[in-house]
Amino acid sequence: MPDLPVTPRPVRCDHPYPDVLRLRDERKADGAFVRVLDCTKCGRYEIPLDIDDLEPILRLKLQFIGRDVAIREGAVERVRRKKRREADGALR
Ligand SMILES: [Zn+2]
Repeated sequence: MPDLPVTPRPVRCDHPYPDVLRLRDERKADGAFVRVLDCTKCGRYEIPLDIDDLEPILRLKLQFIGRDVAIREGAVERVRRKKRREADGALR
């Protein structure tokens, strides 16, 4: 499944997890770091990432590999369903 297009953050998104999931962090061609998020309501968008605020391991990975994948393309809905079930279970 090809990567879906990612737009800059379209609107203010305050939707809760797991409506919003972190797909990946990556270094763009211009050297900026971004976090790519997928929201059920807002779609897929990216936010700027302050590399200095990241955990050291994640920072190194982004600096040297340029990409840290949290959820693979195509697995998003499966992960979201799983997290929803976990959240429901925790409330009971
Ligand atoms: Zn949203």
